[in-house]
Amino acid sequence: MGITLTSAAQTLPGFTTAAQHDEFETEKKFKSLTDWSAFRKHLQTITREPHTAGSTANERVRDYMASVMTQAGWKTDIYPYELYMPKEPGTSQVAIVEPVRLPLNNQEYVLKEDPYSTNANLWPGWNAWSGNGDVTAEVVYANYGRKEDFEKLEALGISIKGKIAIVRYGGNFRGYKVKHAQAHGAAGVIIYTDPTDGGYVRGLTYPEGAYFNESTIQRGSLLTLDYTGDALTPFEPALPRDSKTKVKRLDPATVSFHTIPATPLPYGAAKEILQRMTGKPVPQGWQGGLPFTYRTEGGSSLKVRLAVEQKKDFVRSYDVIGTLTGSEYPDEWIILGCHYDAWAFGATDPNSGTAMLLSLAETLGKMAGQGIRPKRSIKIAHWDAEEQGVIGSTEWVEQMKNELGAKAVAYVNLDAGVSGRDFGAASSPSLKQLLIDATQTIDYPDSAKTLYQHWKGKSKGKEPNLGNLGGGSDHIGFYMHIGIPSVSAGTHGPTLYHSNYDDFNFYEKFADPTFKMGGMMEQLIGIMALRMANAPLIPYDVKRYATDLKTHLGNAGKNVRRFADSTAFAGLKQSAEAVTALEKACTGFQTAYTQKLAKGDLTTPQAKAINAQLIALEKSFIDPKGMYYGNWYRSLYASPDPFSGYASWMLPGIQYELDLKSTTRLPEWDTRYAQAINKLTQTIQTTTTLLNK
Ligand SMILES: [Zn+2]
Repeated sequence: MGITLTSAAQTLPGFTTAAQHDEFETEKKFKSLTDWSAFRKHLQTITREPHTAGSTANERVRDYMASVMTQAGWKTDIYPYELYMPKEPGTSQVAIVEPVRLPLNNQEYVLKEDPYSTNANLWPGWNAWSGNGDVTAEVVYANYGRKEDFEKLEALGISIKGKIAIVRYGGNFRGYKVKHAQAHGAAGVIIYTDPTDGGYVRGLTYPEGAYFNESTIQRGSLLTLDYTGDALTPFEPALPRDSKTKVKRLDPATVSFHTIPATPLPYGAAKEILQRMTGKPVPQGWQGGLPFTYRTEGGSSLKVRLAVEQKKDFVRSYDVIGTLTGSEYPDEWIILGCHYDAWAFGATDPNSGTAMLLSLAETLGKMAGQGIRPKRSIKIAHWDAEEQGVIGSTEWVEQMKNELGAKAVAYVNLDAGVSGRDFGAASSPSLKQLLIDATQTIDYPDSAKTLYQHWKGKSKGKEPNLGNLGGGSDHIGFYMHIGIPSVSAGTHGPTLYHSNYDDFNFYEKFADPTFKMGGMMEQLIGIMALRMANAPLIPYDVKRYATDLKTHLGNAGKNVRRFADSTAFAGLKQSAEAVTALEKACTGFQTAYTQKLAKGDLTTPQAKAINAQLIALEKSFIDPKGMYYGNWYRSLYASPDPFSGYASWMLPGIQYELDLKSTTRLPEWDTRYAQAINKLTQTIQTTTTLLNK
């Protein structure tokens, strides 16, 4: 399809006719400059060694990224922090002591098919933020270790007090398994991946296939504080202790870390415990994929020893931030980011995202070298210490919050962003349309389809499956603490998540043997960034706030009615009224926005004034009082689920009361939501007035 046809067929939000013509030329140029071999080269280099946060290998990755960015013409800054965290496993061991003495394997086998598996610097399985302890006790199987699983055990009259809980991965963030187990009095926790959830029940296992074999271990953080980021400096950046600005740090003894030991095992080891258990068969739905009947209790003749000794201390971390300064609006920022620290080699998680961003930096750098600069500044951020608790990005957000609040147009998160061949995305309301439009301009490699067609697939809806942003990665600080519209996007597939096998060999054999997904994602993220950078008016879909809020409020209202009738709570009436007013304001805005762009008489000072209002829209949801489960979470719009970690909660203030089945604070929330929506409406009206000038 020729460029004129494309431009005739598509009207780009935020662009005047003249600007749109230039933009299509820029995009054509950008796509022609894609170096399809760059992604593979960067990925192979970055994932040569295991590189956890705080290791010297990770400093080598840092230096490589900084030099690639600098050579590509980006101004590159390094932001050091001093984080309180564990950086090494220390001791992490499990053994059966009765009726047989049997130490259990907790490291991946060396495989002749995978040269990376022989690396001497690979570590056994461990979970960062375990408590320290050496316990020998009976065992209880607690399914996924969710809130409801421990409640079920209680209902069955099975106590886990003083026992070791053995739970499987899945269903929630692993830290909550330990949190719930500790709250129910467990002495320790063993977390394993069941063959049903990630092993041979799903498909062939590594190295024959892409699923967990009997020695594959999911590592990961267990941190579950009521804020994200460095454990000792909530709300403040964890600047190095020797820097000029002194940051107040909490005393670690006052922070509610887990106190019981916890460690992960592969199913080949967990099997040894599970098959020796003698209690009653498990409830419906708890049976996993190992070839015997799962039982809730181990009985008194089965004793397991769990020993964890893990040092926590101050660790230097480094965020690497590259800037391509905008030619017209340098103080408006588009931020693209991915962490670079990994549990081992990190080929899919996270460095497929890193390699893609480095390739993108080179392509945009080449364009800038030819005089084609973005009008707004584009920043590419490589975060450190994400795996220990989304720390590097959060500290940067806390350090830069005032500037970010005024300048940041969007944050796009690309953690593990090129992990397979299936595309998926989640977004805040105002960026959904931009993302959808961009996928329509991208070819899905080795097919006659666009990325949009591949993504939409058989989905019957009017739109492809576009999720809402939850927890679990570096967008949290941007979106849920300071209200920057955010997107997370990427290609995915089966992965050997957080295991020593997530290496270049796995990537080449299973994740994407063609390596073309790297170039495709580079083009998609590049087009999105260029549209956001070059549109005279920031291309937010403002009316989507009304559509999505109406849906979320409708759902919340229905869920309230499930446990409270109208005598207990009258309903979310103020919020509903506020949404009606918002819808009206959105209609007025849309007309003014379209007319202004059609007229094409926008001046730079006018654009700046309008864009400042547009940047302020998402901040309507930022409430300094925050959530009752943690006031660091200040967005009334979205939050990670505080009971499970990963899942996204929409309208979290109300959602929390729903989970508590309490109506007491619902009138307060109705008022607070109405106030936030009214603030959004007012900002939209102010913007409309500016557009009509
Ligand atoms: Zn990651």
